[in-house]
Amino acid sequence: MVTKAITPVPADSPESRRYNRIKRWLELADMAIGFALLVVLLATGWTGTLRDLALGEHNGAARSYSVAVFFYVLMLMLISKALGTPLEYYGFRLEHRYNLSNQRFSSWLWDELKSLLLGLIMASIVVELLYMLMRQSPQHWWLIAWAAFLGLVVLLAQLAPVVLFPIFYKFEPLENEELKRRLIVLSERAGTRVRGVYKWHLSEKSKKANAALTGLGATRRIILADTLLDNYSDDEIEAVLAHELGHHVHRHILKSIFVQAGITLLGFWLADYVLTYAVYRRHMFASFHDFANLPLLILVSTVLSLLLMPALNAYSRFNERQADRYCFQSVASVEPFISSMNKLAEQNLAEKTPARWVEWLLHSHPAIAKRVAAAEGWAQTH
Ligand SMILES: [Zn+2]
Repeated sequence: MVTKAITPVPADSPESRRYNRIKRWLELADMAIGFALLVVLLATGWTGTLRDLALGEHNGAARSYSVAVFFYVLMLMLISKALGTPLEYYGFRLEHRYNLSNQRFSSWLWDELKSLLLGLIMASIVVELLYMLMRQSPQHWWLIAWAAFLGLVVLLAQLAPVVLFPIFYKFEPLENEELKRRLIVLSERAGTRVRGVYKWHLSEKSKKANAALTGLGATRRIILADTLLDNYSDDEIEAVLAHELGHHVHRHILKSIFVQAGITLLGFWLADYVLTYAVYRRHMFASFHDFANLPLLILVSTVLSLLLMPALNAYSRFNERQADRYCFQSVASVEPFISSMNKLAEQNLAEKTPARWVEWLLHSHPAIAKRVAAAEGWAQTH
């Protein structure tokens, strides 16, 4: 029986306040630039100019439809990358200024290039599919697109830990026998099995620590950053593992995919509605499959996800609290959980007590002060 009084949370340092405020402004600026680009393309009709360029009709050698779609996507991505890169570079400098990064400029540049290429490949697949469906089935394209998109989401969730993450980071199976033993005990108590625990070589790029449950089915695994493995006690790492196992036991990845399925169905329906209006009422585009309307589709999905962000973050915080409670139940004492939370906040320069509106609007995890208080409350009642 623990009867320790709940410890007051020390106020966040001015440094952490400043760092997080700048990060929020960066995110806002990034969003504003993306939004402005879409609106300008639509309002000025420059999206039509891009489409004509993509079709290549000006020099008499018209390209095929699908090649033109690819060229349009390529131009749109290059423009948005050119507009967004200064901010991303500022973000890279910011991490160094607050001594949170180990990444060299050349490595950052290489990552930028890789993410541009990866983005281009994925966007091309999605957009080609979308306009092919619009051409073949202008009535039901949005329903078929939704089903296809869902398949893609499931496939990506499966592939992410084995194909996508390794493009940017090295992973290897965890060697620590003591931690492996503890995980097996935790898993057996949960009546479940996680396929593996992997060491995530995050320290090549960052001083921050992190852990996550990723993958689906056969690729389901817990990944632990080396920055965590090297600086936290076995008890603290066990608490982190127990939290991640909580996500697994409560099937949070699968549930999130279901939530996403509902939202994308709404999104595709809305896109169809807005396109119908733009094509038949306003005559902004010749047809549904006039791919100059792509900025309008992106705008619809951007506005929708912006509106839903507070609700989705609230849902995520609910899941995190559930995983935390699972952790409290499965470990011998909540003390290592509390100390790991405090260490994480310090190491990542996270705000333990963010403003209420910040947490409500932007945070996928409950404030660290609240997570610590929940752990202390648990210890007092159990
Ligand atoms: Zn979590």
